[in-house]
Amino acid sequence: MSCTEARFSFELYPPRTDRAAAALPGTIDRLAAARPDFISVTYGAGGSSRTASLDVLRYILEHTDVSAMAHLTCVGSSHEEAHRLIREFLDAGVRRFLAVRGDPPEGLAEGEDGIGDIRTTAELVQLIHRVQAERAPYGELAVPGLPAQAVLEHREHVQIAVAAFPNGHPSSHSVSQDIDALLAKQAAGANLGITQLFFHAEDYFHFAQRAAEAGVTFPILPGIMPVTSPARLKRMLELSGEDLPSDLAIELEVEPTDEGRREIGIAWAARLGERLIAGGAPGLHLYTFNQHEAVLSVLDRIGALPATSGIASTTPANPATEKEP
Ligand code: FAD
Repeated sequence: MSCTEARFSFELYPPRTDRAAAALPGTIDRLAAARPDFISVTYGAGGSSRTASLDVLRYILEHTDVSAMAHLTCVGSSHEEAHRLIREFLDAGVRRFLAVRGDPPEGLAEGEDGIGDIRTTAELVQLIHRVQAERAPYGELAVPGLPAQAVLEHREHVQIAVAAFPNGHPSSHSVSQDIDALLAKQAAGANLGITQLFFHAEDYFHFAQRAAEAGVTFPILPGIMPVTSPARLKRMLELSGEDLPSDLAIELEVEPTDEGRREIGIAWAARLGERLIAGGAPGLHLYTFNQHEAVLSVLDRIGALPATSGIASTTPANPATEKEP
């Protein structure tokens, strides 16, 4: 596939200040004009962002013609709460989900009480399919307790993506464990993988190859982001547990101007994106940090923006920035 044919999608997080909330619709409109496959919206583990996430999803669904993907987490939820939550998102019109476990609240170790009823992402994937199937035949009318076969038959009505970790999940003991987790999610009905941030195309290719050899059949979208400041790089490394790409860190560190750092981050991500597409990745998922400018510049640079999008790399930056998550 050439870059001009490459599919792409974006990730946003729910805004946490009034100023950021006021700026987000403008950002979404700009991202939507690029015609992504979907825009995903993160969800705070434990339900901390339920309303804010739903507000962003509703904006995408009601004001753009782009598909919205809702991240959902299960950690800390009772079965009943998770059921209600999924139902609420389906009722809002969401048909694409990214099912993730979420991280346990601070101070709570894996396996301790408080993790909730749904202990694995695979269980969450199954529950989303079940709630959708129970709801589907009669629209608003739920049909609790549908037989498993009926749930299976309804699987194609929702897309359920799951997280994949090219360099291993921080708590994983081996790559095989991460691949086994992906296989369990696939068996539960997941039909797309989206990776954690990574910095080297080879990491993605090795992982995708191992996953395919082990029997993972769904596409795995590489998740990338333009890192335009040392502070952002540091924050992303803390969140993802990835190893520091020292050349990028040094380049960003020694560059004295914001404009120069922005250029370094965009050029780095564009090179990575080009390599990924040339090597057979099914598309690109771009972490936006709620700013359209840098991700659109990356896509523009690799020729992936449709001519009709009317977006040039000079798209003005979103003026209302907020502290990164
Ligand atoms: P799992 O894949 O179920 O588990 C993570 C790892 O643990 C596995 O890869 C495996 O190594 C090991 N493991 C788990 N189960 C088994 C098993 N049965 N056997 C063997 N090994 C096992 N967090 C949020 O709170 N909100 C979000 O919106 C959010 N979005 C994300 C989006 C993406 C693309 C990614 C990559 C992560 C996101 N996260 C989000 C972070 C995620 O919640 C954490 O990484 C969490 O620690 C793991 O969730 P998971 O669904 O990947 O879990």
